[in-house]
Amino acid sequence: MSSRDLPDEEVQQKITANLNRVRKKIETSLRNSVDPEREVTLVAVSKKQPLDRIRALAAAGQMHFGENYVQEGLEKIKALEYPEIKWHFTGSLQSNKARFIPGQFALVHSLDSVKLARALHKKAAALGIVQPVLIQVNLAGEVQKAGMDPDQVPWLIREAGGMDHLDVQGLMLMPPLADDPEKSRPYFAGLRKLRDSLEQETGRKLPHLSMGMSQDFVQAVEEGATLVRVGSLLLGPRPGCVLTGKQW
Ligand SMILES: *Cc1c(COP(=O)(O)O)cnc(C)c1O
Repeated sequence: MSSRDLPDEEVQQKITANLNRVRKKIETSLRNSVDPEREVTLVAVSKKQPLDRIRALAAAGQMHFGENYVQEGLEKIKALEYPEIKWHFTGSLQSNKARFIPGQFALVHSLDSVKLARALHKKAAALGIVQPVLIQVNLAGEVQKAGMDPDQVPWLIREAGGMDHLDVQGLMLMPPLADDPEKSRPYFAGLRKLRDSLEQETGRKLPHLSMGMSQDFVQAVEEGATLVRVGSLLLGPRPGCVLTGKQW
């Protein structure tokens, strides 16, 4: 039986237990980390997850959720009517969809071009708000992977830094897929070092590092993550698209 078939109470119990387990691991890893005094925010990545699981996780006390697809994310925000939830945009974002983000998502993790920065800025300015963003870095130089080349990041920070309605708060990373989570560690440490040198180079504070997923969030917290993006470990395997059933 998949967890989707479980009665509500069992779903609730399972998800609450998952949340407690992940929170404990974050606490322990934080104590063993490069900077034990900082705060780490757990972002539950709920892409392709049904609303009842999201509700169960929110009922257990989780208030930060991440979505990867614009339309699916907006539909869920509307359907859940949970004003306490802070939504994060964690997927790759095309500039022609950027206008849907400001006002709905508290933090964009995936800024990777000046064009996208301009589009987000334009909408944030129209709404009279400031949109917090992180720059996604392609640290491994993987071809066809989202994220900006590390060499270009200083330029993007300067350009976006000049936009009054954007607030660049740090960096985000997706390390290459690996079966051993220890293989992610050098990338996590690398992102922290890149952040430190960018702060020196640009004179801007970049307090946030978004790194670590279900399989490697322990290593990420040990290496300095301030935001971890955990999906399946909290919500179970992704059953697929839940609202209109089409591919997003
Ligand atoms: C899907 C996804 C996650 C969560 O992945 P899990 O392995 O389910 O924890 C985190 N970050 C991004 C950008 C994702 O697309």
